[in-house]
Amino acid sequence: MKLNRRIFIGSAAAASATLSAPMVMGAAHGIPKVVVIGGGAGGATVARYLAKDSKGAIDVTLVEPTRTYYTCFFSNLYLGGFREFSSLAHTYGKLASEYGINVVHDWAVGVDKDAKTVTLAGGAVLPYDRLVLSPGIDFRDGAVPGWDVTAQQKMPHAYKAGSQTQLLKAQLEAMPQGGTFAMVAPPNPYRCPPGPYERVSMVAHHLKVNNPTGKILILDPKPKFSKQGLFQDGWSTHYDGMIEWVGPDFGGDMVEVRPDTMEVVIDGEVTKVDVCNVIPAMKAGRIAEVAGVTNDKGWAPVHAADMRSKMDDNIHILGDSSMQGDMPKSGFAANSQAKVAANAIRGALTGSKVFPAKFTNTCWSLIDTDDGIKVGASYEATDEKIAKTDGFISKTGEDAALRKATYEESVGWYDGITSDMFG
Ligand SMILES: Cc1cc2nc3c(=O)[nH]c(=O)nc-3n(C[C@H](O)[C@H](O)[C@H](O)COP(=O)(O)OP(=O)(O)OC[C@H]3O[C@@H](n4cnc5c(N)ncnc54)[C@H](O)[C@@H]3O)c2cc1C
Repeated sequence: MKLNRRIFIGSAAAASATLSAPMVMGAAHGIPKVVVIGGGAGGATVARYLAKDSKGAIDVTLVEPTRTYYTCFFSNLYLGGFREFSSLAHTYGKLASEYGINVVHDWAVGVDKDAKTVTLAGGAVLPYDRLVLSPGIDFRDGAVPGWDVTAQQKMPHAYKAGSQTQLLKAQLEAMPQGGTFAMVAPPNPYRCPPGPYERVSMVAHHLKVNNPTGKILILDPKPKFSKQGLFQDGWSTHYDGMIEWVGPDFGGDMVEVRPDTMEVVIDGEVTKVDVCNVIPAMKAGRIAEVAGVTNDKGWAPVHAADMRSKMDDNIHILGDSSMQGDMPKSGFAANSQAKVAANAIRGALTGSKVFPAKFTNTCWSLIDTDDGIKVGASYEATDEKIAKTDGFISKTGEDAALRKATYEESVGWYDGITSDMFG
């Protein structure tokens, strides 16, 4: 008798929740569950906002294999000697202790979209009402002939921060006087459009101070690149004659590398180098492919209004993995998208108010000491994509005070975004 009454009350509560808030999901079987895969710019932010704003009404689990996240943003400044490596490191303690997020340090290896579960490498199976994927990028096999991930100890990519960044810095410091640093730049689309060129600036700064006869060779498959005029102007001001950019007209798109002999082959011509930073073509983080939410180009298409997968209504994809429209693949963009997704997911699972999606982005780059530049824009969600509404970019010939202020603004941004991600 008691049991029947309990069942009756439970069913009535679920039915009335359905009637009063037809969008609410998950309430019928207790606290709704969100699993977030990837604790970077998109994943840590969405987990924190979901936990903070739902005040216990959503059970949030964050799956991230590493205990320390090293930001790619500002990792170039470490290469240039402007930051300590330790300043890039962030941990997940506050997300667990202050926000009640269940942080699980493991790899997600499987997603069952029908059962709505995620399988971890350690064997655990996590059920979800909504799944958020923010696994960043992976590299395309065979993108640079002669290079695969087994070559990354000789020719690092340093495009996922951590030991790769330290390795590239060690190689730079060990370069012989007058040696050559080569970079194989990636084709579009890729993580952080100005990233390779800010890196070149920081490597040049290091060489100017420590190895002034050293040279930099950029092998680029693209005919133009982000903030090109600003970078090239800065390079001729600060590093005149040190940097050679080889675009596709001169074989920058026909590059093979030989890690064992430290050679690059440009349109058939062999050049010996001392350091070779290979940044291959990219695709969405592998788990997005495993989950079956990527397209034939390797990226995960999403609806702009809520970052929901176009292939599965219960999965949202943030940051670099997503194919969303006009936003660049940046940490700022991933963080901005995470807040939109958190608001939409909370609305769907708890019936809270959902605000129209608005997105912003700014990418700062440091060219030399106190010489900062930036590019940025605002965006809105259309039926088709995240669409750019307006934008701004630094100008050549700006005075030194403005460039210093731009750099200082970027330092403030770094502190702001990392506390927005990790609390
Ligand atoms: C050199 C460089 C400089 C940059 N500078 C800037 C900058 O100045 N400003 C800016 O805004 N952006 C910058 N970026 C870009 C920025 O780092 C990325 O766009 C941003 O980190 C993307 O966020 P994300 O959440 O998509 O991926 P990430 O931040 O890379 O996070 C992905 C996380 O997912 C985890 N993961 C992957 N697969 C799995 C799995 N199967 N299971 C569990 N976890 C998994 C990874 O361990 C990782 O922690 C820079 C990038 C580079 C390389």
